[in-house]
Amino acid sequence: MKGLRRRELLGALAAAGLVGAAAPLRAHSAPGALIENVTRLYPVRVSRVVVPGSVQDVVQAVQNWPGAVAVGGGRYSMGGQVGVEGGLHIDMRSMKGLVWLDTTGRKVRVQAGMRWRDLQDHLDPHDLAVRTMQSYSNFTVGGSVSVNVHGRYVGHGPIGASVRALQIVLASGGVREASRQQHPDLFRAALGGYGGLGVITEVELDLDANTALERAVAHVALDDYPGFFAAKVAANAQAVMHNADLLPPSFDRATAVTWTRTDKPVTVPERLVPRGQRYDLDKSVIWAMTELPGGHQLQHKVVRPALLRGHPVVWRNHEASLDAASLEPASRAQSTYVLQEYFVPVARFAAFTRGLAHILQQHGAQVLNISVRHAPPDPDAVMAWAREEVFSWVLYYKQGTSPEARTAVGLWTRALIDLALQHGGTYYLPYQRHATQAQFAAAYPQADRFRATKAAWDPEGRMTNMLWKQYL
Ligand SMILES: Cc1cc2nc3c(=O)[nH]c(=O)nc-3n(C[C@H](O)[C@H](O)[C@H](O)COP(=O)(O)OP(=O)(O)OC[C@H]3O[C@@H](n4cnc5c(N)ncnc54)[C@H](O)[C@@H]3O)c2cc1C
Repeated sequence: MKGLRRRELLGALAAAGLVGAAAPLRAHSAPGALIENVTRLYPVRVSRVVVPGSVQDVVQAVQNWPGAVAVGGGRYSMGGQVGVEGGLHIDMRSMKGLVWLDTTGRKVRVQAGMRWRDLQDHLDPHDLAVRTMQSYSNFTVGGSVSVNVHGRYVGHGPIGASVRALQIVLASGGVREASRQQHPDLFRAALGGYGGLGVITEVELDLDANTALERAVAHVALDDYPGFFAAKVAANAQAVMHNADLLPPSFDRATAVTWTRTDKPVTVPERLVPRGQRYDLDKSVIWAMTELPGGHQLQHKVVRPALLRGHPVVWRNHEASLDAASLEPASRAQSTYVLQEYFVPVARFAAFTRGLAHILQQHGAQVLNISVRHAPPDPDAVMAWAREEVFSWVLYYKQGTSPEARTAVGLWTRALIDLALQHGGTYYLPYQRHATQAQFAAAYPQADRFRATKAAWDPEGRMTNMLWKQYL
């Protein structure tokens, strides 16, 4: 009795995202629930939640459910991409095991619900590192592959390039191994496929060495940044991570931060960011920068100089294991922190940045910072966001949760999407669904190819979510 109650409790907590479920938890299934995401905007009311522990559990869940099926990982996407109204939600967070690790061949296979931070625990003792991932380590591998994420890695582009193979459970319940050699159409559509092809149950990835990295900071005028990036970053074989920050209110200068390989001893002894820290100071600083009248000055004069002082030397795994908890506000009831991202050809860097700054100022958008990254063309994903060499602009901003505030954000978001389109670029799909149908069609002209591949593998269109319901 006691054991049974504990199991049920663990299942409920796992479904609510409060714990990683224990291994014995098998295909926990619960009736209707509200599936939230990190922003608390766009919750989705689903009819059933299943928490599978194995590929067989996923097959059974898909076969036993007659209607629409959506998949969730860490739930950091922000516009209902993990749920479909009245459908089945498959919560992958309990499928987090290591399948195998080949330290000599530098490759790994994991269950898709594993988070990067868990994988780093397996890799770090072997001096190995994830090849391409986001700036934070809380995301699941399956969610990252399904969004085709990228990070600050120089020359890497999206994660798809480091994905060797996937195991996918199709809407029929069939299980397929997909790679560049086996079912390549399925593989290419599943990279950045937002759960529309099936449930990814295992992912095989190429890995890199975990080396020490030294940070260098340079302040660069907007017009000089593309040249700076080409000469000092892309051409530097030792550069591993790079981004440039643009700060409000004018966003008129790039603060370029580059991490290069070094033989110097580390100045930060921890190999990984410790789990479960409180981050009270980080959160207070973010609050002050967005709430106090002199917030911009505080950021320019105090916070940034303090954060970027000196030349720290850290392990790559340390810099890659940042915890998104450091960004989490005390409450998301009245206001919430959200992301957006745009991808624009490199030649348009300064012109796009100026246009973007103008729109943000005009609308009084509360942007905390913009992080610029670079990506080469993506040869893999059908729904590629880098169809040529691009820079990307990641906007981190605060907004109210009231209907008026949401309408206002919709206005400037659509203006920014238009601006990106005018410059031959596109926008990123894991965020709020403010784009019009016409903007989506212009931003992703390859959507018809994606539709055709999806129809071949999921003829009844069961694998879906609120993103695909709206745009596909
Ligand atoms: C603080 C913060 C920082 C971020 N930084 C970056 C960044 O640096 N770079 C970047 O590219 N993005 C970034 N993002 C966006 C983030 O990478 C995506 O939202 C990503 O999807 C999060 O992974 P997840 O596990 O939470 O996926 P979820 O949000 O749970 O899912 C995302 C999509 O993948 C699908 N999916 C999930 N698991 C599976 C599966 N096993 N099989 C099939 N489909 C699946 C879901 O249906 C959904 O459509 C950031 C987001 C936040 C909140």
